[in-house]
Amino acid sequence: MNVIIFGPPGAGKGTQANNIVKKFNLHQISTGDLLRNEVKNKTQIGKDIENIISKGDFATDEIVSELIKNAVFDIKKKNKLIFDGYPRSLNQAKILDSLLKESKQKIDFIFFLNVKKETIIKRIEKRKILEKRADDDLTTILKRYDTYMDTTKPVLDFYSKNLNFYEIDGDEKIEEISNKIEQILSV
Ligand code: AMP
Repeated sequence: MNVIIFGPPGAGKGTQANNIVKKFNLHQISTGDLLRNEVKNKTQIGKDIENIISKGDFATDEIVSELIKNAVFDIKKKNKLIFDGYPRSLNQAKILDSLLKESKQKIDFIFFLNVKKETIIKRIEKRKILEKRADDDLTTILKRYDTYMDTTKPVLDFYSKNLNFYEIDGDEKIEEISNKIEQILSV
């Protein structure tokens, strides 16, 4: 099965995706991680996007598509994908649709982790202490939230019509959210 998990930054997507990966033997495709890797490895893409990411803006759809193509067409990962932080714009959702069609796959479950802005701020502040991610200062957090609302809301509208769309209350405890998701995936 292929899964999309999305929600505003700090909603707990990464944590939930990690858990699903372990329990259901999937491959996590996090565009945030892929992009940070490019920056770390100082590739051409990395040099182009370093500023963009640190400001909380979005990388271009071309760059992001290039990075996820490898995963979608990787035969070992076929029908075992969980997308975390992707797609983030309507255009990316359409690109993903066509990449999946081309590789004879589909999305089986879509989870939207809905969470309050205050909860997100609290969680990211905590993560900052634990991981010290460079892009996690408060201004960037709020910028990322606003960018998310502007650009990703249409993705929500695009997917929410689907029968396999599940909205999950992201303000609940991590374990409760995991349980809900596991129950849905186990049916
Ligand atoms: P994340 O770790 O998912 O919160 O992503 C960190 C940052 O990477 C975001 O604030 C964006 O600047 C960039 N990013 C991650 N995924 C995408 C995407 N699908 N499209 C554009 N930019 C992205």
